[in-house]
Amino acid sequence: MTDRLVRQDPREQYPRPPFPEQPQPEPGLAARMEPRPDHGETSYRGAGKLAGRRALVTGGDSGIGRAAAIAYAREGADVAISYLPSEGADAREVIALIEAEGRKAVALPGDITDETWCRQMVETTVAELGGLDVLVINAGHQQYREDVGEVSTEDFDRTMKTNLYAMHWIVQAAVPHLPAGAAVITTASVQAYEPSAILLDYATTKAGIVAYTKALAKQLIKKGIRANVVAPGPFWTALQPSGGQPQEKVRNFGEQSEFGRPGQPVEIAPVYVLLASQEGSYITGEVFGVTGGAGVA
Ligand code: NAD
Ligand code: MG
Repeated sequence: MTDRLVRQDPREQYPRPPFPEQPQPEPGLAARMEPRPDHGETSYRGAGKLAGRRALVTGGDSGIGRAAAIAYAREGADVAISYLPSEGADAREVIALIEAEGRKAVALPGDITDETWCRQMVETTVAELGGLDVLVINAGHQQYREDVGEVSTEDFDRTMKTNLYAMHWIVQAAVPHLPAGAAVITTASVQAYEPSAILLDYATTKAGIVAYTKALAKQLIKKGIRANVVAPGPFWTALQPSGGQPQEKVRNFGEQSEFGRPGQPVEIAPVYVLLASQEGSYITGEVFGVTGGAGVA
């Protein structure tokens, strides 16, 4: 593979559709994806931008969260990752990659739709890492439904609990531990601005994440803490083939973007690094789109 930092046409840099059909039961494993996503395992190079920081990344086992966790460790941070117990295989690979950098890794298997677990997970992170400087809210649930009549109360509840309630519980537990200079980064979506017909409940939560984070940023800057949103477009992750999209959309995933391909998780990691690091010192209350050209306004 070409070095990702060498100048090249970004449209040709990573795999393009069509992709093989690859249904997986949710939450899906990165290890079962074809082609394997690039989370920076061999390609992300750090530069000490987060030396000595302590980070918690929810959904850090796979996809965008995994790319952020790897980048953070390469930049010198100790990293705790949360994930569902069924994702242990993916999580173990991330833990090994963090430890390979000589950094401390904390594994947090559990279900974030449970408030008690959300709070406990934050306390465990603080105890194990000796504090918390960077909080990445990234875990998310996405299940497409063709018609409004098919979105059951159970579906709606699950999406709200995973994407909104858990964010609130984790943020609420974390804020008392965050020192001045800390950063909170949430993960919304282009869906907050351009909702797909089949992602009614999911898109609603993503718009909510944008509003929540902007309000939070106004509170936290009074303590010297920044909060920002990342809004991804189509990224090649297990979220999509495990119920996030119909299989025919997975086959052509990213085709509609200006690049004609989906983003690879490593391509969004630098934004999570910037927003976490002191280089982002004047950035708060912003939404950073990495959408493949769609924009976020
Ligand atoms: P992913 O499936 O790799 O990551 C999502 C993670 O959420 C899972 O790995 C899982 O650990 C976690 N999760 C889900 N439900 C959970 C629960 N109940 N308890 C604990 N953990 C739970 O997919 P991804 O695409 O990397 O998703 C990361 C974030 O990016 C999500 O918030 C998603 O909405 C957002 N996003 C993704 C895309 C995309 O195209 N992939 C686009 C826009 C936004
Ligand atoms: Mg996963």
